[in-house]
Amino acid sequence: MNEKRKIAFCTLGCKLNFSETSTLARKFLENDFIRVNSDQIADVYVVNTCSVTENADKKCRQLLRKLAKQAPNAIIVATGCYAQLKPEELAAVEGVDIVAGADMKGNIFEYVNSIQEKRKARIFSCEINETQSFFKAFSVGDRTRSFLKVQDGCDYNCAYCTIPMARGKSRNISIEEVCGEAQIIANSGVKEIIITGVNTGDFGKTTGETFLDLLKKLENVEGIERYRISSIEPNLLTDEIIDFVSRSTKFLPHFHIPLQSGCDKILALMRRRYTTNFFAQRINHIRKLIPGAFTGIDVIVGFPTETDEDFNLTYNFLKEIKPAFLHIFPYSDRANTVTSTMEGKISHNIKTVRANKLKNLCKTLHSEFYKLNTGKTVKVLFENARHGEMMCGFSENYIKVEIPYQKELTGKIVQIEITAIAENGNATGRLIG
Ligand code: SF4
Repeated sequence: MNEKRKIAFCTLGCKLNFSETSTLARKFLENDFIRVNSDQIADVYVVNTCSVTENADKKCRQLLRKLAKQAPNAIIVATGCYAQLKPEELAAVEGVDIVAGADMKGNIFEYVNSIQEKRKARIFSCEINETQSFFKAFSVGDRTRSFLKVQDGCDYNCAYCTIPMARGKSRNISIEEVCGEAQIIANSGVKEIIITGVNTGDFGKTTGETFLDLLKKLENVEGIERYRISSIEPNLLTDEIIDFVSRSTKFLPHFHIPLQSGCDKILALMRRRYTTNFFAQRINHIRKLIPGAFTGIDVIVGFPTETDEDFNLTYNFLKEIKPAFLHIFPYSDRANTVTSTMEGKISHNIKTVRANKLKNLCKTLHSEFYKLNTGKTVKVLFENARHGEMMCGFSENYIKVEIPYQKELTGKIVQIEITAIAENGNATGRLIG
C-alpha cells in the first residue's frame, strides 16, 4: 500500500482565504494525503497568499523561502491574491514550483499530481477576465464555527484597493446553493456560520437575488443556530437588514463595517460610497434597534494627503460613535491603484503615531463595551481549544468569555453571567443552569 503523502497549508490574510484553504485541504485529504503543520517536513506545501499591503507581500515571500529551506524536496504551491497580482514575482522565489491564479485554485490538486520533479516554477493562468468561475468554499476549523463564502470579487474600485484586480468582478452562487452548503456544514455538527465575501452585501448581483433574501432563507437551515455577517459595506447595510437582524433568532447582534476615514474629504478621495453622516445614521439605527450590539469598524490611517486635522476628525468621529472594536490599517501603496500615483504621501512615522492613537482609543472603547456587559447573562458558544486551564467562546455580541476548561461544554451554547473582566481583557463569568 502506498504511504500517504504529507501536506501542509498556510493561510495569510482574510477569512475568505481561510475558507478557501479549508476547502482545498479537504480535496487533498480525501485523496491519500495527510495534513501536518507547516513547521513540519511535508511533501507538499500550499500557501494561500494575501496582498493587502506591501508588508503582506513580504511575509508571503519570507514564508515561501522558509518552507523551501525547511524541506528542499517538497512541492511548493503559491496561490491567492498575491499569486494573482504578481505571479512572476512569486515564481522567482527559489523553491516555488506552482503559482496558481485566483481562478485556478480548484485545480491545485491536479497540478500537484502532475509534477514529477522540482524544476522551474510553473504559472497557471493568472488572467482575470469577465467570466470568472466561483470557487465554492467553507472552512471547518475546530468544528464550532465555519466561514462560508457566499460572494467573491468587487466592482467598487475604491482608490486604494487592489482586491478587484486580484479577485475580479463581483459574483455569487445562488441562495439555493448557499443553503445547500450551509446544510452540509450543519450536518457536520457546526452550530455557527460566518457569512463571508469580498463585498458580502453585494450578494445577488449575478443571480438577481438580494442579500436580505439570502439571510431570510439561511434562517431556515436546520441545525445552524447562529449566523454572523463578516463585514458589510455601510451603503449596503440597509435599514431592512438591520431590522431583520433585530428580529432574527439566529442572526447575531454583531456588525463589522468598514469606515476607513471619519473625514468626508478623505472618504471622497478614497472613492467610498457614503459620508460620515450616513455612516453615523447606520450606527444609530443599529443602536436604536439592538442596543447591546457589537460594532467593529475598519479604519485606514495615513491615506495620501491626510492632514493632522483630517486625522483628528476621524479620531473624534470614532470617539463619538463608540464602536466596540477598531481594525486599524496604516495606508499601504499598492501597484496600479489610483492612489499609488497620488501626491502627498504620509511618512511612516506619522502613520505609526496615528495608528497608535487609534490603538489606544480602541483599548478604551473595547474595555468600555465589556464593562457595559458585566452583570449581563449572555449565550456563549465554547470552542474546542484548550488554553492552559481555560476554555474560550464568544457571546452573541462577540464578547470573548473564558471559564475553567470543561470538556463537555465544547461546541455547546450555554448561558453565562459575566461577572468580571480578566487581566488579559477577556470576560469571565459563571455558568447559569
Ligand atoms: S469595497 Fe472597496 S475596499 Fe472593499 S474590496 Fe471593494 S474596492 Fe476594495
